[in-house]
Parts: sequence; C-alpha cells; structure tokens
Amino acid sequence: MVTSPEILHEHVKNIFPIFRSITGKGIRQTLEYISQRTEGFSISHVDSGTEVLDWTVPDEWNAYGATIRRTTGEVMIDWARCNLHLVQYSIPIRARVSRGELEKHLHWLPDQPDLIPYRTSYYRKDWGFCLSAHQYSQLTDDEYDVEIRTELGPGRLSYGEVLVPATMESGNEAGEVLFSIHCCHPALANDNASSIAIAIEVIRTLQKRPDRRLSYRFVFIPGTIGSITWLARNRDRIRHIRHGLVMSCLGDDGLPTYKQSRRGNAAIDRYAEYLVQTRWGGKVVPFEPYGYDERQYCSPGFNLPVGCLMRSPNGQFAQYHTSADNLDFVTPAGLYASFGFIMDLVTMMEQDFHPRSLCPYGEPQLGRRGLYKTIGGGDEKDPHSAFDQMTLLWVLNLADGDHSLLDIAQRSGKPFPAVAAATGVLVRADLLARPAWGQVPMPPASVSSPAGTSAPSASWT
Ligand code: ZN
Repeated sequence: MVTSPEILHEHVKNIFPIFRSITGKGIRQTLEYISQRTEGFSISHVDSGTEVLDWTVPDEWNAYGATIRRTTGEVMIDWARCNLHLVQYSIPIRARVSRGELEKHLHWLPDQPDLIPYRTSYYRKDWGFCLSAHQYSQLTDDEYDVEIRTELGPGRLSYGEVLVPATMESGNEAGEVLFSIHCCHPALANDNASSIAIAIEVIRTLQKRPDRRLSYRFVFIPGTIGSITWLARNRDRIRHIRHGLVMSCLGDDGLPTYKQSRRGNAAIDRYAEYLVQTRWGGKVVPFEPYGYDERQYCSPGFNLPVGCLMRSPNGQFAQYHTSADNLDFVTPAGLYASFGFIMDLVTMMEQDFHPRSLCPYGEPQLGRRGLYKTIGGGDEKDPHSAFDQMTLLWVLNLADGDHSLLDIAQRSGKPFPAVAAATGVLVRADLLARPAWGQVPMPPASVSSPAGTSAPSASWT
C-alpha cells in the first residue's frame, strides 16, 4: 500500500492513547506496534543501573492509576480520563493530605486555563498531578484523598531498531543514514506520535525499493537516556554514519523547520537547506545544544552529521507539551508533507555524488551521441526531473570530480532532480565516469508532488 496522508494519521491515532514513559510497558507496546508493521525490527533491553556514558539507566516505571478525591469520595482528577494528569515517574502514594500539601504537587497553566500540561520527574523522587487551571480552581476543600498506583524499581530500558541495508555495491561510498525518533511521551500527538508514524512509512517505503546505495538505520528510543544508551552500545558503528536526522513534531500545519547539525555544513545540512529554499518552504535554524536527541549525537566527542527536522519547533507552539497537542492538532496534510520532505532528503542522499567527465578537453560533441538539443527526464513519476540542453552543458562543465550534483544544481540554478536525470543520461552515453555503485539516478521518491499539503512552493524552483 502506498503511503497516504490518511495512513499516517491513522498511525498517530493508534499510537496516541498508549501510555508511554522512558521505560515501562507503554514504550514496549509502542515498539511492538512498529515491529508489527516493519520487517526486521528488533527490540533491545538494557537493565536498570547499567552505566551508559555519563549516565545510569534508571529504574523502570509503570503506572496503573491515579486520582485526587474529595473526602466524600467524589473524584476530582482521574488519570484514566487523561494520561497527562500524572507526573511521569511519580512514586506511589495513598494518603489524605491537606490542601496546602497537595498544592506543592500540582502543575497547571494559568495562561492556558483549559489545557493540562505534561510534566516529568525522572531523576528526582517525587509525585504530582497535572491539571487544567479550571480544575485547579475547583480544589477548594481543606483536605483531599490522593492515590497514585505506580511501580518504580529495577527493570529494563527498551528501544527498537531496524536496519534497511544497502542493495547496491558502493565500495568506499558505502555508509549509513541514521534516523532517530523519541517515543517516550504519553498522549501528545505532534511530540512525538507524528514522527513515529512517519518513520514507519519511511521504513516501509525504503524496504520496497530494490536499489539502495545507502543503508538506513532507524532507532526508536526514549528521549535523552535512550540516545545516550544507544550511543554507548554502538560506538564502533558510529563511524559508518554519513547522514543523520532526528525526527520530531512533524505533524502540525506549520512549515518545516530544519535545525542544522553542530557542524553546520554537513551534506544533510546542505540538502535540507536546499529543500527548504527550493521546494518545501520553511526555515533553517542553527544548531544549539538544546532540544531533542541531536544534543547527544552532536556532543563534541561524537560530532555526528545529525540535524533535526520539525514543523513548528519544540517550545514555540502554544500546544507544546499540553493536552492541546492532540489528534486535531496533527493533520494528515502536515504529516504527509513531512513524509515528502524526508523522502526528498533520501533521494538526494542516494543520488548525489561527484561526477567526473571522461571527455574534459573541449566540449564533447553531443550531436554525434544523439544528445544535441536533448530534452529529457520529466517522467510521470517525477516531472521535476525534466532537463534541457543547458542542464547537460552545466553538468559536463562542472563534472571535474570536485563538484557534487548539489553544487551543480546550485551553480546552474537547475533543479536537483533535473541535474540528476541529466547526469544519468551522460553516464549512459559514457561521457561521465560511472559512480562506484553503477547507475544514476535512483527512481524518484514516492511523493513527487506535495499536492494538498501546506507547502508554499509546490515545485522545485
Ligand atoms: Zn517533548
């Protein structure tokens, strides 16, 4: 089945209600959901107490219920109604407490009185409830009965992983693309059920492609401690990573936001910037050591070429980490546009290389090869690959081994897909050396036209 906006939204709907945290049954249930829909997915478990880089894998936490009741028995707050009500990693408690004592354990948003915030206390033993300001204003009695049924103790941290291996020989060009998706938040749709949904469909799409020059590794981890654990256990694998992307908050109707890697000029930084400028709109923001798991991948010891793709950036939309980050906030069109952006990135990673002319002295005679005034590409699958005579001339002129296809696209002003298609024609005419993996280009991505999405520029310019 070809990915559609509706399929993506359906995944979000299925993932949203599962009660997740950085450890416990919910994250494992979420990993099972992904496992059932992809091939070769594996789930790893790491014992609590294991030392990972400068951190320690925490105890496992599971929740079964949480209520605040009047002393008459009337239920005021119930975790079963909204799983954001319970502060994550709350320790168990069953007690009658004064209003003053309860107050110290309540979190609400005075400026957004209808919304319930999302709060955690992973590394400080405490308990607490999150509630709307309206609910808070109703807690006027002198005493309340508080019950939190949770378990916190030695267990395991779980994460999931799948490798979609390269199918083409590519010699020294071989490499891995790392996608990292956090899946530790409970009922929040954009942050980060959206990215889990999109990643499932990117995996499925890649697994169907017969010609992969690169390998693709997807890791589904709890935020921060998960990427730290993965990095600690995969130090020997890291040198294979050529491009990497943290996927987060990818389902709202905002325009794309690409946050650069710490390097700032890695190939993925350039590809993403090009897609923002020429096709999908949005903006590029510089790296900063705050945000999602890019902080770990881009810590100075690793300094991997890992950027982060979002739509509305974390902390900068009113719904962020509240009950308004729900199934209405995430739209099929927003999800599908993010899927398209990522598939375009994949296409650029697959196709880009540094072509070298086999006929660099003087212009090659195109007429003799049937290429004079050739107009090509532009097939049904990817109309943006249409190229003209000038595209061919630009590729031939810049095919000195120093310019990549992206360099050529930017210098010539011709769309990247057209440059790639023209390069393919010139390779087949033996005017350019074959790349190490044989043939250019890979077929276009399954999303060639972002119709119905919020992208302002529906075509490569
Ligand atoms: Zn978050």
